[in-house]
Amino acid sequence: MPLRPASFVRGEARLVSRAFPRPQFDPRGEWLLILWVSLKLQSGQRRSLRRSFREKRKVATAALYPYRPLLAQIIPMRRCNLACAYCNEYDATSEPVPTAEMLRRVEHLSRLGTAVVTISGGEPLLHPELTVIIGRIHDLGMVSTLITNGYLLTVKQIEQLGEAGLDRLQVSIDNVNPDEVSKKSLKVLDSKLVRLAKHARFEVNINVVVGAGVAHPEDALTIARRALDLGFTSTMGVIHDHTGHLKALGPAERRVFDTFQHLTRFSLTRFNNTFQTNLAAGKPNPWKCRAGSRFLYICEEGLVHYCSQQRGYPGTPLEAYGLDDIKRAYHEPKACAPFCTIACVHQASAFDRFRDQQAAHVFHGAEHALATEARSGATNGLGQRRLDIVGQPAPRSAAPSAAPSAPQSAPQSAGVQ
Ligand code: SF4
Ligand code: SF4
Repeated sequence: MPLRPASFVRGEARLVSRAFPRPQFDPRGEWLLILWVSLKLQSGQRRSLRRSFREKRKVATAALYPYRPLLAQIIPMRRCNLACAYCNEYDATSEPVPTAEMLRRVEHLSRLGTAVVTISGGEPLLHPELTVIIGRIHDLGMVSTLITNGYLLTVKQIEQLGEAGLDRLQVSIDNVNPDEVSKKSLKVLDSKLVRLAKHARFEVNINVVVGAGVAHPEDALTIARRALDLGFTSTMGVIHDHTGHLKALGPAERRVFDTFQHLTRFSLTRFNNTFQTNLAAGKPNPWKCRAGSRFLYICEEGLVHYCSQQRGYPGTPLEAYGLDDIKRAYHEPKACAPFCTIACVHQASAFDRFRDQQAAHVFHGAEHALATEARSGATNGLGQRRLDIVGQPAPRSAAPSAAPSAPQSAPQSAGVQ
């Protein structure tokens, strides 16, 4: 095919441009449009995009190095303003941990390379200087999240949390109407959720539960739909029964669980939640729990524990917890893993799924160690440490018989709240 001269091509281009003239914009209109879009982004989406990018960058960096904690849960306040019947993680009397001490703990977590710090309780909003702690986490470049029962949220407090640099807040709601077992109800908390929707500068997640003994499983869907309507994310925790064992979900609960999976949009809070599908069917999960390395639970005494349900082990003071402890816990298989329901540890461990977990010693759980000590008369100190910290290894349930159909055990999905 003969080459066409350049002048012919230019002529063709002129013809085309005459046939299809470019739309004429008023340049001032274009600038106004750009300004309007950037203003819109500044007032919410831009902040959200920036936060999301920062979170992902932080987590991705920590994930590259196996001996860095991805998530640490710290307790500034064991006292709670509620008394949920199933809960084993609160008291009615303790004082707040002094702020200077909390700041020292946060700084040590930063030195360990921690990516995300979750503040939990008890009820952390009872701590008088919570925003100072959050501000320090933010200044040290870590992502801060807060788990609360939501009762104490005022407009002023929501604004202060945002100004301090809080990244995420989670409220757990157990039922639509309060009962003797749990007052964490949509009916009571809805006005707080509306406040959060109006004033929060951070992401909000509403955690719902389904599982053994929940009186009205369909409540979870009502709560999740309300959360989505308000622009929040929602997660679902599968809970176990009063003996601490997980049972497969019944037909009604299973329907709720399946509906929920299609209801909510993806967010970091739902990352790696597929393990719950196995648990819902009563099946074990073949995973490697990295508690004690990728996940740390730091109680109000400043001791490091594997997780909220294995308090007492290792029970090492945080300031003495270092790389050797992290490496040991990283490689230690946990016998309690197959039916573990603790979502945040599953999430923090997911990045190392294909890395090794080899150790001669297998962690069988603190209660197992306690029972072994009692049988043999010998002691390695582990059981006694657990007794010192959490008291008698009693069944978790304290639910009154007057409310047999309500939750009987702590929602083990993402902290106790
Ligand atoms: S209970 Fe779960 S998170 Fe805690 S140590 Fe056992 S497997 Fe790990
Ligand atoms: S579950 Fe949360 S709100 Fe209820 S008593 Fe325990 S710490 Fe308090």
